[in-house]
Amino acid sequence: QTDDSRAALIPRYIRVNTNCWTIDEAVQAFISRGYTLTGPFEANGFRFSTGFAKDEHIPDLLAFHPSVRFVDDPLYQAGKIILQDKASCFPAHILAPPARNDSVVIDATAAPGNKTSHLCALMRNRGKVTLFDWSVDVCVLKPCSCQLFAFERDRKRFTTLKTMLSRAQCHNVEPVNSDFLTISPEDPIFSRATHILLDPSCSGSGIVNRLDHLLETEAQMDGEQDRLNKLAAFQLMMIRHAMKFPSVKRIVYSTCSIHATENEHVVRQALESEEALEGHFKLAPPKEVLPLWNRRGLQDEMVHPVDALSLVRCSPGEDATNGFFVSLFVRTDRAREGAD
Ligand code: SAM
Repeated sequence: QTDDSRAALIPRYIRVNTNCWTIDEAVQAFISRGYTLTGPFEANGFRFSTGFAKDEHIPDLLAFHPSVRFVDDPLYQAGKIILQDKASCFPAHILAPPARNDSVVIDATAAPGNKTSHLCALMRNRGKVTLFDWSVDVCVLKPCSCQLFAFERDRKRFTTLKTMLSRAQCHNVEPVNSDFLTISPEDPIFSRATHILLDPSCSGSGIVNRLDHLLETEAQMDGEQDRLNKLAAFQLMMIRHAMKFPSVKRIVYSTCSIHATENEHVVRQALESEEALEGHFKLAPPKEVLPLWNRRGLQDEMVHPVDALSLVRCSPGEDATNGFFVSLFVRTDRAREGAD
């Protein structure tokens, strides 16, 4: 299959930004423009370029014909719609931060910010963060409720992140231009984190126009394996760091890679790490991880093949998405485990 034929199988997805309006209002707006709401998107595409559908897995996601463009659309410019592939909506949906007063969420690798604004919408944009009170001599952490911290280490990408968050009208997000790995889990501000989303830099090999069939020679493949090993070591470090936060209960780790090296192998090593054993982290059961999605992790790549059922994979084109991988680590209840 060529990249073009794969791309033709991927609808143009837009996530309705519920910070600004409801899915029903968005559907009506598209109908009034001449689009027709149809049944679910099928692998062979919509019959008409004016058809659109509500996604069956992600609430607030709409699928349009692959030929439709929204980049210049006033709704996009106004932040009312977010251009986001379906698979890229899975991490925030699976992390499922509650819009409650006691949840504190970290997006550890945030720019350009699509998943951050998704988390913000799921939290119903609640809880204004004011980190420092400059009205007194010493910086004081002001009490606040439900809140979201978005880390981005790259300065340029941090600027993009801030622009995107402002356009998406995210009011409960505190963007932080820092390396997540330098943040102390004991820091009084961040130690309260209950949910962490990790979507670190990866090979990007699942993105349809970057697929790995371009690697032809053995030397190229050797170089690529070396690069993947380095990425995997960094990805594992990020998960182990997230597991050190004392209040964290749920950690989502995702990549847009198709390689087991960056996916199942990283998860496998994270489960065996000191941090996972000490913190009692396990993979969430399959019923908590997008249960209606059929494509799961690669069984042969896990120590316990059954663990693969807890992992979500997307095959580029074949699943009407880019290639993607998602896992959910949860802290298990020690007392209950002892009683079982
Ligand atoms: N989650 C983003 C989204 O959906 O819009 C995409 C994230 S992108 C795959 C990874 C980002 O993490 C890059 O912008 C990179 O600069 C940033 N990053 C990588 N390592 C980091 C670290 N240790 N701390 C903070 N940001 C990091």
